[in-house]
Formats: sequence, C-alpha cells, structure tokens
Amino acid sequence: MTEQQALWSVNETTSIKTYTLINFRKIPQIQQMSEEAQFEMEVVGNVLPFKTNNYVVEQLIDWDNIPNDPMYVLTFPQKGMLIPEHYDKMASTLRSGADKKEIARVANDIRLQLNPHPAGQMELNVPQLKDGTKLYGMQHKYDETCLFFPSQSQTCHAYCTFCFRWPQFVGMDEMKFAMREGEQLVQYLKEHPEITDVLFTGGDPMIMKASMFSAYTDTLLDAKLPNLKTIRIGTKAISYWPYKFLTDSDADETLKNFEKIVKSGTHLAIMAHFNHLVELSTDPIKEAIKRVRKTGAQIRTQSPLLAHINDDANMWAKMWQKQVSLGCIPYYMFVVRDTGAQHYFGVPLVKAEKIFRSAFRQVSGLARTVRGPSMSATPGKVHVLGVSEINGQKVIVLQLLQGRESEWVGIPFFAKYDENAIWLDDLEPAFGEKFFFDDEFKAKYKH
Ligand code: SF4
Repeated sequence: MTEQQALWSVNETTSIKTYTLINFRKIPQIQQMSEEAQFEMEVVGNVLPFKTNNYVVEQLIDWDNIPNDPMYVLTFPQKGMLIPEHYDKMASTLRSGADKKEIARVANDIRLQLNPHPAGQMELNVPQLKDGTKLYGMQHKYDETCLFFPSQSQTCHAYCTFCFRWPQFVGMDEMKFAMREGEQLVQYLKEHPEITDVLFTGGDPMIMKASMFSAYTDTLLDAKLPNLKTIRIGTKAISYWPYKFLTDSDADETLKNFEKIVKSGTHLAIMAHFNHLVELSTDPIKEAIKRVRKTGAQIRTQSPLLAHINDDANMWAKMWQKQVSLGCIPYYMFVVRDTGAQHYFGVPLVKAEKIFRSAFRQVSGLARTVRGPSMSATPGKVHVLGVSEINGQKVIVLQLLQGRESEWVGIPFFAKYDENAIWLDDLEPAFGEKFFFDDEFKAKYKH
C-alpha cells in the first residue's frame, strides 16, 4: 500500500483540510497551473462560493484530466460561470487593488443580478405558526413535505460550483434560511397534520456534530407526532467526506442516532447527492454507504444534469447501475435551476430528456426508480416526459410530479417545441394561451 493509499484507507483516522480562496494557491496541483488560471479562480471565487477539501483534491479529482475533469469542475470555480460582463467587472476590481469592502460591494452587486432566490423561496415558501411567527428556517411548498434548515448546517464539506443554495454561503445574511429551534418545527408539524416528511437540509446537515443533529431528531421523536412518517437528510457528505461515517470522532454516534430513528419506527431516508460515477469509486465511499445502510436507513440518490460535468447518458447509466449495486435507490435527475451559473451548467430541456431516456434504456428495472429530468420551478416539480407530435405540431410533454396544489399533480400538459428552452419560464403553451395551472397559480401565489 502506498503512503497516499494508506492516508485515505477506510480505517485510518484522517482529518479534513479545507481549501478556500484564502489558501487554495497552496494546493500543489494548483501551483502547477498558470498564474492566469489561478487568477480566474480568484475572480469567480470572489462572487460565488468556493470551498473544497483534501479528500476531494487527492482522491476524487484526476489532475491529469484538467481542466475537463468533472470533479474539478464540480468544486473549483470556472471562468465561464460568470458572464463576461460580470467576470470583467470583478477582474478589474481585483486588478485595481481595491480593498475588501469594495470587492464585497462589487460581488454583492453581481450576486443580486443572479436571481439569488428562484422559485419563490423567499416570498412563497416561508411558513408561519398560527400565532403569526414566521419560520424563516423552514420551507413548506408541497403538502406532505417540509424542509428544515438547522442554523448549524449552513455550510458543506465542499461546495458544488452549480449549487442553487449559493447565496447562503457568501455572507448575504438576509438570504440565509436557518432556524435554531426544533420546538418550533414540532409546533408547526402539530399544526399541519398533512406533513408526513421532514427534510433536514442546509448546506449539509451532516456537517453538524452528531450531538447537535441528534438534539433536533430527538426533539422530533420525543414529540411522538402521529403524522411524522419519514425523516429525510439531504447530504453530500458520503461523497465529499465519507469519514463522517467512518473515522470522525462522532462517526459512531452519527450511525447510532440513525439506528435510533429507524428503531422508533420512523423511516430514515438519506437523500444523497452524487453528481458523477467517480464519486462512487473509492473504498471509503463504499464503506460509508455500507455503514449507513446497516443502520436501517435507505439511501436515495439525486443530482442535476450538468453541462461540463455529467451531460453524458452512458455515465448516468453506469452511475445508476453502480448505485443499485451498492444498495442505493436512484431517485431524481434534476434540471439546473434558474439561478447563479445556470448559463454555464444548464442543459436545454429537450437535450436533457434525450440524455435521460438514453441512460434509462440502458439500466434494469431496479434502477428505473429514477425520475427526471425534473425542474423545481415555482408552481412545482415539472417533469419533462418527452417530445411528441399532436395534430402535426411538435410539442414537449410535461407533467407536475409535485405541485403547490396537489390537484395539479400528474396531469399531462404541452409546451411548444423549443430546443433552446432551459427552464419552465422559457416554454410557451402549445395549445391556447396558458398552462392549465396558470390561473389558479396567479390568483393564489402571485400578489
Ligand atoms: S453539497 Fe449540496 S448544499 Fe452543499 S454546495 Fe453541494 S449542492 Fe449545495
């Protein structure tokens, strides 16, 4: 076993080393790159969040494949993530020797032009208690599921360059969703018996120490809420830092807490983010999956379809197959959201559906649990079913997998064929002037 392999073996205690704008130039592989390439990262990293770690750098990125390596593009800022106008603005600010305050001002100015809160997150999804208390640390968009953002999970082991939650990581404080009190969550669940699922999200809830995370889940379990059937945890820790479940000081406690949730009769669903097959290739990841599954938790997998990272049907097919062989359940292929660097990572809907179908055809029924491509748009989760022809007119066939109104779910609807559309807003109804949900949506949600 080489020194490198020993360092990253399953049983060795390894500590995380984080790289950000402040110290990324110390990474030996980065030092091999031109000054211009390093400056480009600095320009983009001053606007959009940037953080990676020693495991990602040493185990997941193939440095012989730079600049095209998918894990490199996934975690290091890319010049194209900013449109030229924004890139030039930040580049000239940095070159002029501007102070921190001026750099932050320019960065915020650009960020505000990047649609920081898509899909009505700020206006439409923030719930309130019956006494009128607004719960800024929660989102309740679909009847059965509410999202909970513990205040201690507003970061991740590394940041994904495409992340639609980017405003939470760049110090735009008023944009943070975070809530300290588990009791408020319990109260809200009591007031809303229709909620069966609570999704812990962030950032990454698995960044929290086990004792902190279990304080939240204990509060939920102790309340013995008859409506609560499932606790979901949205996480990329299995991929970015599998040691959370292996050798970290709270690894065993984390797994014990999972067991406790399962033993209480509550279903525990780990919503794991895997964007590329390579993330499933290392021994620590395989072992982490094994240990998490041993607790009785189920692992469902999801990722957006991303240009420059995973817009390849064969890769998706292999990734789903690999996930099934490791005991995970493929769940969603998403469409990149209309925020941040969508222009760089977005894949047109028609192309996305072709990639999905081509991958779907290659896998057995066990991997066909996956759904997509799906857009988490303002009215709901819009599933692109395919392209068809009706009365000689080429159309895109869609349906809602989730809707702000549950009656909208599952009804097929049609948009004019458009090869360039990358989001619901780009689509026009194929027949008539509006989609079937438009009137009710406008009346109820657009004020
Ligand atoms: S791990 Fe999830 S929340 Fe964190 S940066 Fe990646 S996509 Fe965003």
